[in-house]
Formats: sequence, C-alpha cells, structure tokens
Amino acid sequence: MSATGSPNLATNSEKAARYLARFRESPLGHFINGKPAEGRSGKRFTNISPLNNEPLGEVAAGDARDIDDAANAARAAFPAWRDVPAAKRRALLHRFADLIEKRAEEIALVESSDTGQPIRFMNAAAARAAENFRFFADRAPGARDGLALPAEEHFNFTLRQPIGPVGIITPWNTPFMLSTWKIAPALAAGCTVVHKPAEWSPLTAMLLAEIGIEAGLPPGVLNTVNGLGEEAGKALTEHPDIKAIGFVGDSATGSAIMAQGAPTLKRVHFELGGKNPVIAFADADLDRALDAVVFMIYSLNGERCTSSSRLLVEHSIAREFEARLQARLSTLRVGHPLAPETEIGPLIHPRHRDKVLGYIEVAKREGARVLEGAAVAADLAAGNYVRPFAFIGARNDMRIAQEEIFGPCLTVIEFADETEAVALANDVRYGLTAYAWTRDVGRAHRLARRLEAGMIWINSENNRHLPTPFGGMKASGVGRDGGDYSFDFYMETKNICIALDTHKVPRLGG
Ligand code: NAD
Repeated sequence: MSATGSPNLATNSEKAARYLARFRESPLGHFINGKPAEGRSGKRFTNISPLNNEPLGEVAAGDARDIDDAANAARAAFPAWRDVPAAKRRALLHRFADLIEKRAEEIALVESSDTGQPIRFMNAAAARAAENFRFFADRAPGARDGLALPAEEHFNFTLRQPIGPVGIITPWNTPFMLSTWKIAPALAAGCTVVHKPAEWSPLTAMLLAEIGIEAGLPPGVLNTVNGLGEEAGKALTEHPDIKAIGFVGDSATGSAIMAQGAPTLKRVHFELGGKNPVIAFADADLDRALDAVVFMIYSLNGERCTSSSRLLVEHSIAREFEARLQARLSTLRVGHPLAPETEIGPLIHPRHRDKVLGYIEVAKREGARVLEGAAVAADLAAGNYVRPFAFIGARNDMRIAQEEIFGPCLTVIEFADETEAVALANDVRYGLTAYAWTRDVGRAHRLARRLEAGMIWINSENNRHLPTPFGGMKASGVGRDGGDYSFDFYMETKNICIALDTHKVPRLGG
C-alpha cells in the first residue's frame, strides 16, 4: 500500500500474481455446457505477458470439434432460455452484474496483466461491464414488443423473438468490457452464446463464463471456446446452428468472416477498425481540445478503435498546437501497467509492438517529422513498451495517415479551411468516429452532416451513452450496437396480420 492507503505497484503486483497463479498452474481450457472443458485435440498455445513476454500460461487451441460441442450446448439450451420470463431474465442478468462488481479487483488486475492496459483504466472495466448487463437487463422485458401497424381491414403487429444461438468473436484490446458489450444484449434478447475470445488476451473471458454460472445462467447459455481465429473462430462462423456472428476486430477479418459465413447465410454485425480524424479549428477552446486529443490517442495504449489517430489542425494554430502537443508528449507516463500513475503500458505483443514501431521508419521515408514523447525506462526493456510519438507535417495520402496503427501514435495534418478539413477527414477507407473542436455552432452542424463516420463528437472526447447507436460506416463496420439497435441484431422481427373479416378474399375457380 502507498502512504495514502491506495494500492501501489507492489500491492497490485502481489495480488495480480495470486489471481494469475491458476492460469500458470493449469492450462486454460474452454467452458462448455456449464463446466470447464479441456478441448478435444489437446493442442495448446502459450499466452505471453506483455510486461516481459514470459508465459502467463498455456491455453487450449480449440478446433471445429470444440466449437461443435459448444454450438450443440447453445442449441440445446436455447428453447428454455428463450422462454425464461422476461422479469426473471432481468433479475438474473442483474445478479450477473452484481457478481462482476464483486470480482472487480480480480478482473482489473488480470485484464491489466494480460493486455498491458494501465490499471487506471482497467479499474473501470468491471463497472462498465456490469453497467452493460444492467442496461440490457432492464430493457429485456420490452425487447419483444414490436409496433402496432393497423390498416383499414387488417390489424398488423410485430413481435421480436431471439434469433437463436449466436457466436461472439472479440479482439484483444479491452476484452472484458467489449465482450460484455456484445454478450449482455444477446443474453437479454434470449439468445444463447458461443464466445471466442482473442488469443492474445484470453484470461478474463473465463472469469466471465464462471460468473455467469454463479449468477444462475443455465448450462449451455454462455459457452466459451478458446483458440486461434483461423481455426476456432473460423469454425464458429461456419457452424450451421449458429445463426449470427457479432464480431469486433480488424476490417480484414470482418471480410473473411463475411465470406466464411456466406454458405450458411450468417447474419453478421461488425465493429471494425478506424483511422479517426479529430479536427481542431482556430476558434476552438484549445486547452480542452488538446486534453481531448491527447486522451483519445494516448489512453488505452492507443490500442483503441475509436482513438483520434489523425489530428487535422488549422494552419493558423498549427505551430502553437504542435508545440503544446510536444510538451504534453514528454510528460506522458509510460510504465508498468499495474502502477497507478502509469498512463501508457506495454503493447499487447512483440509482433504488434514491431508493427507500431515500424511506422516510425515509414513516416521518415514519407517525409513526416517524428516527435518523440517520454522515454521508456531501461528496466522495462523486456516488455513491449514504446514511447508515445506523433508524426508532424504529414499528408493525407501517406500510409501513416491512411493505415490503422493501433498504438500511441498521432498523425498530424494541416488544413486551410472547413472545406479542406472535411475532404481530408473523409478521404480514408474507414468511418468509425470523427471529433471536431469549434465554437461555431453552424459549422458544428455542417460538420455533423458532412463527416463520414458512424459517431461524431463535437467539443468532446468519446463520451459513451449506452442507448445511443455505436458503430461505423465504410470499412469500419456493418450495423449498430447500443440500446434497441443491439436487440434488432439479436432478434427476428415477425409481422402478424389479422383480418377484421371485412375485406373481400379473392376467389379462384368455381
Ligand atoms: P483481429 O481481427 O485480428 O481478431 C479479432 C478476433 O477475430 C480474434 O478473436 C481472432 O481470433 C478472431 N479471428 C481472426 N481470424 C478469424 C477468422 N478467419 N474467422 C473468425 N475469427 C477470426 O483483431 P485484433 O487484432 O484482435 O483487434 C484489433 C482490431 O479490432 C483493430 O482493427 C481495432 O480497430 C478493432 N476494434 C474495433 C472496435 C470497434 O468497436 N469498432 C473495438 C475494438 C477493436
């Protein structure tokens, strides 16, 4: 403990080691039909720690047979789960949320150790996950109500019913929170789930499955199969009993999943990559804009789909903004993710670190200037730590402006006026989020109409409100989550038309 009584690095590390011991001692398997399962093939892969690249444990590399076992369990559990009265389902999902909150410390420490995400952000992981469950739990009773659409001689009404067993495939960046964002509405809708967590950060998905059983989910309602994307993930997307795939990850993987799911006509929902612009106009509140720009690219290690990774800055304020950015960069705290003061932890994997660092050479070759932030302490050399950096004087046609880097790295591009700012913002294959800073209300509304992004924040960092639609345009996604949008994906809408017996029924023959 620190002098103030709040946990410090030593106490966090000691507790994390205790929570992680089980994963070191025995291999992490699957969770199928309400209980742990080892996996049919016996094949495993090693999960390494981003802090030092030492093994955190062995993980079962699930294959098509494990997916089949999980899909069978989800199919068998579906009719009873579908028919659980809504009030009971709501109570059960609230209990799920209570138990997530009860294990908040464990979830935060395991998540931080497995992903390298700083504990200051992961401390909120359980609370946000619990909120996802509570939000959709409260909406479960109304989820099946549809519209009344009366016509002159008929009465039409619509019902929504859960689509069936669904597959959820998640990425490694903030796995616990993200998984609950997909799984909570599926369960609230009455679907059963097979979850395939990311192979680079699989640990907290098992905690989630365990909590589900403790909360009283019937066996088979939430199943987890670990494994590699090309094997376990692919088999899930191809399984005929899985009616829909909710996927969060890379745009290229989204394309693959669409193709893999085509023979079984899979319904798909994709939350994919981004290269999101933040536009700083000269009339903006620059103090607030700078805070938001820095927060939205350097928090969560920059491993964030909604990060503002392209700063478009108006010529007249560009020098001042860059100078202030550079000063801030040098004060960012890179360090051990379990240290409470750390703002940037190690990146998930050496392969990802090399990819991110590779963009420094790309930037130099392309003619941009590299601003380097706070250095990495020598005692952290074994981990995947990188210093934060920014590319100044970039052009929008450079790779550093077009490709998702997914690290603590900002690309800065100047613009002359609003027309050019919008053109630059939209000249990219992605369309997840856009941020703009201006005090001109008319311009704010014009930007809102013209920017090609599923979510736009004006004078704000990414501020989430669960009822609002979440998702991207272009290569950033297909479909929306949030509020009723999530239920629409996990449910079938059925129209029922009942005649008042007043209309003339066409008569053929005698
Ligand atoms: P990824 O696409 O490599 O992997 C995501 C998941 O897909 C993993 O579980 C992986 O095993 C699985 N997978 C891989 N190949 C598969 C296949 N052929 N069939 C089925 N499943 C397969 O993505 P990642 O590197 O884990 O995550 C980073 C990406 O996720 C970034 O592009 C980021 O922008 C995106 N992301 C998007 C959002 C969003 O809401 N839009 C949120 C977080 C992350």
